[in-house]
Amino acid sequence: MNAVLRKILLWCARNQWMRDHMPRLPFMQKAVRRFMPGDTIDDALNAAVDLQVLGIGTMYTKLGENITELAQAQQTVENYTALLAGIKTAEIDGEISVKPTQLGLDVDEDACFTHLVTLATAAEAQGSYLWIDMEDSSYVDRTLDLYQRLRATHPRTGICLQAYLRRTAKDVERLLPINPAIRLVKGAYDEPKTIAFKSKREVDANYLGVAVTLLREGRTRPLRIGLGTHDVELVQQIASHAAAAGIPKDAFEVTMLFGIRAREQRALSRSGYRVQTLIAYGAAWYPWYMRRLAERPANVLFALRQLLP
Ligand SMILES: Cc1cc2nc3c(=O)[nH]c(=O)nc-3n(C[C@H](O)[C@H](O)[C@H](O)COP(=O)(O)OP(=O)(O)OC[C@H]3O[C@@H](n4cnc5c(N)ncnc54)[C@H](O)[C@@H]3O)c2cc1C
Repeated sequence: MNAVLRKILLWCARNQWMRDHMPRLPFMQKAVRRFMPGDTIDDALNAAVDLQVLGIGTMYTKLGENITELAQAQQTVENYTALLAGIKTAEIDGEISVKPTQLGLDVDEDACFTHLVTLATAAEAQGSYLWIDMEDSSYVDRTLDLYQRLRATHPRTGICLQAYLRRTAKDVERLLPINPAIRLVKGAYDEPKTIAFKSKREVDANYLGVAVTLLREGRTRPLRIGLGTHDVELVQQIASHAAAAGIPKDAFEVTMLFGIRAREQRALSRSGYRVQTLIAYGAAWYPWYMRRLAERPANVLFALRQLLP
C-alpha cells in the first residue's frame, strides 16, 4: 500500500497541472510549514539561530527546479548570492545546495556550469561551500560531469549521490581520484527497478556499503563525507563500523532536513557527531513537498489534518 501511495505522490510531484494548482490550496500551504520555516531568505536564516547555539550547522536550498527560461536561472543565482551575503553578515555556519535544473541544465548546460562557477566562487570567498543536489536518473551523468569540471578549479564543492541507484558504487570509484565531497542520500525519485534498488533492505545495504567504502578511502585521502539521511539506525551502524576501524567521529557529518527528527539531530550533536540541518525556502515548494510526503506516507495524514478547522 505504501509503495502504491508513494508512486501516486511522486506522480503528483511531476504532474504540471498539479504543480500549477495544488500550491494555491490553503491546507497545503499550512502543511508544508512543518518542513520549511518560510518562503524568504530571512525566514531561512532566522531558523539557524537556535541550531547554531546547539552547534548544529546549516545548509540552505532555494526551492524550484526544471526552469525553462535562463532569466529564471539568473534570478536564482542572485537569490543565492543574497543568501550567502546574509550568512556572512549573521556569521552563520552555513552552506548552500543547488539543483542543476534550477540553474538551467534543461535549457543550456554551459550556462548552468557558468552559474555553478559563480556560486562556488562566492561561497568559497567567504569560507562556505557549494553542494550540488542529485535529481532524477536522467540527470546523473550530466550532473557528475558538471561536478568533475567544477571541482577541478573549485575545491569547496560537493555532490549528492543516491544509494538507491545500482550505479552509485561505480560513480564513487569514478569520483575518488578528485577527492570529492559526497553527500550520500537514499534517493527521492521514482526510478525503475532495472536501475534502482526498490526495497528498503536493498537500499539500506547499498547505503551502508557505499558509506563504509567512503570512510575507508577517507583514511588515506581528504574526502568530505556527508550522510544525508534521517535513518538514525543506519547512521548508528555506520558509526559502529567507523569506531571499530578506529575512524574518528568527525570523519563524517550527518545532514537531516529541517523539521524531521529534530530531537535525534540534537542528540547526535550532543554525542559528538557533526550535524547539519538542511533548510529549504522559497515559493516553489510543491514538487519538493510531495517528495517529502512520498518518503513517509503517514505525512499525508498530517497534511489532510490541516483541512480541519
Ligand atoms: C540533507 C538531505 C539532502 C537530500 N538531498 C537529496 C538529493 O539531492 N537528491 C535526492 O534524490 N534526495 C535527496 N534527499 C532525500 C533522500 O533521498 C530521501 O528521500 C530522504 O532522506 C528519506 O530517506 P531517509 O534517508 O531519511 O530514510 P528512510 O528509510 O526513508 O527514513 C528513515 C526514517 O526517517 C524518518 N523520515 C524519513 N523521511 C521522512 C519524512 N519525509 N517525514 C518524516 N519523517 C521522515 C522516518 O522516521 C523514517 O522511518 C536528501 C535528504 C537529506 C536529509
